[in-house]
Amino acid sequence: MRIVMLGLAGAGKGTQSQILKDELSLSLLSSGDLFRHHQNEGTELGMLAKNYMKNGQLVPDEITINMILDGVNDVGSGGFVLDGFPRTLSQAEALDKALTHDPIDCVVYIRVNEGELLIRLTDRLICRSCGAPYSKRILGPIKDCGKCGGQLYKREDDKPEVVKKRFKAQLPGLHQLVSYYSGQSKLVEVNGDQSVAEVSREALQASSEMMVGNPSK
Ligand code: AMP
Repeated sequence: MRIVMLGLAGAGKGTQSQILKDELSLSLLSSGDLFRHHQNEGTELGMLAKNYMKNGQLVPDEITINMILDGVNDVGSGGFVLDGFPRTLSQAEALDKALTHDPIDCVVYIRVNEGELLIRLTDRLICRSCGAPYSKRILGPIKDCGKCGGQLYKREDDKPEVVKKRFKAQLPGLHQLVSYYSGQSKLVEVNGDQSVAEVSREALQASSEMMVGNPSK
């Protein structure tokens, strides 16, 4: 099964992708995590992406598409969840072209209003080791990750001024992708204002309904 997660930054794509990956035994490819990994390793790709990310802009399509298609190739014929890719129409078209024989089955769009997302992102801390997100608002003054004990940090691009730029950079592509995947009858919209459990229940149900419609998967 091949799933794409759509939604603005902070909508919960990362958390839900992890749940779908575990529940459905899929591989997980996150474009943001891959870019951050390349930056930590000091690769050329990481250096290329760094300034775009710091300023809340999208990394150019060519760089992003090559990185993700390499990851998709590594997964081979297995199923996967894509978190954060595609974010533009060109990226979606490149993905479809690369997957002609085994296309995307389901696109889960997690919809949350921008006001709530701004609060979520400027409030969140991330674990440096496992990437788990934490809300200071909900958990109070926490220092370490409850899952792996890793150190929590504030992402540089989660500052309010950068978050607003990220929304501005991501919204046009998101609208185009919603129409693109609706046109392919693959889009399922989930209300992301609900609890994590409620969102994942709906996302899992939607993916299994797509499987029923396509039993060869
Ligand atoms: P994320 O971790 O998904 O919030 O992504 C962090 C940053 O990585 C984004 O603000 C972009 O600068 C970059 N990025 C991630 N995915 C993409 C993509 N599909 N296309 C272009 N840039 C991306």
